[in-house]
Amino acid sequence: MKTTKNILKQADFSKEDLLYLLGLKGDERLLLLQKSAEVKKLTVGKKVYFRGLIEYSNKCKKDCYYCGVRASNSQPRRYEIAEEEVLSAAKFAYENKFASLVIQSGERSDEAFVSKIEHLLREIKTLSNNDLGITLSCGEQSTKTYERWKEAGAHRYLLRIETSNRELYSKLHPRNSLHDYNKRIKALKRLRETGYQVGTGVMIGLPFQTLEHLADDLLFFKELDIDMAGMGPFIEHQETPLFQYKDRLLSLKERFELSLNMVALLRLVMPDINIAATTALQAIDEQGREKALKVGANIIMPNLTPIKYREDYLLYKDKPCIDEEAEECQNCLVARIHMAGDEIGYGEWGDSLHYKQRQKQLIIKP
Ligand code: SF4
Repeated sequence: MKTTKNILKQADFSKEDLLYLLGLKGDERLLLLQKSAEVKKLTVGKKVYFRGLIEYSNKCKKDCYYCGVRASNSQPRRYEIAEEEVLSAAKFAYENKFASLVIQSGERSDEAFVSKIEHLLREIKTLSNNDLGITLSCGEQSTKTYERWKEAGAHRYLLRIETSNRELYSKLHPRNSLHDYNKRIKALKRLRETGYQVGTGVMIGLPFQTLEHLADDLLFFKELDIDMAGMGPFIEHQETPLFQYKDRLLSLKERFELSLNMVALLRLVMPDINIAATTALQAIDEQGREKALKVGANIIMPNLTPIKYREDYLLYKDKPCIDEEAEECQNCLVARIHMAGDEIGYGEWGDSLHYKQRQKQLIIKP
């Protein structure tokens, strides 16, 4: 009979192994978390990299059933951060040696939006002498748009699948061409073809979600050969359709623990990718991000969005850090990283080792 210790010695994990490990509790679960912490140290090491987060705009054409800024929600004041404010946040990141930014936005594909992002990318590259690395998280776009943004300076792209299960996906989104599962998968593939480092991620503890779905998510990441991941607990937002299922959800504590298990398992399944310690973890547990760093995460995203916009970018309820200035946020995260026993990779892009490895293999192959 397989034991937890034996399974954890494996280099590869079957779906059954993942299901077993996801469901661990008590001391057996601690074995998993210890193992993933060891693997993290041996592969990506103790360095944690900053990605200064700019929540550029909450204007969105989509209507995802879980999201607080979905187009049908009339509550948030719709905004787009002014160019000088974006550049000032980028300057802060540059001067504080963050080395990388993430520009995140609701999804739009109109030319005004596409060219604005393109322009901002060029301006940020200019003000930082090309030193700031830039990740985009601006949804599904055409190949042409991905190419334009890459050409203008972005080199990583995060497009979360939210769940890799087709049926569950259709319960989280309206059934129309704007929210098509196949299109999302194709967009992820186009990003890889365009040359980005590609990231995706899922929500954990969704209504209707099973451990089997989560085990499949981990296998999906491996099959897609992702370079980075951002995963966090599902937290219900009362102005969204999924809120009606709140009574079916796992407790917040259970969702949190399952999220840590997912982070730990992903570190075992794909040891050399970048994994973010997401803010949603901290919405449940004050030390959520440190705990994620301890069990496998190596990326953290200090929020550089000007405070006046933050309460209109509430993707889920009780989002933390909505009233902290960039400097306070940075100080707080520095303390959290040190508490987790890690150190900060100041001035380093901290690109995914997995990506670098793939590039090397491409060069070696004729
Ligand atoms: S999850 Fe993203 S694409 Fe969906 S409604 Fe929210 S901001 Fe728009």
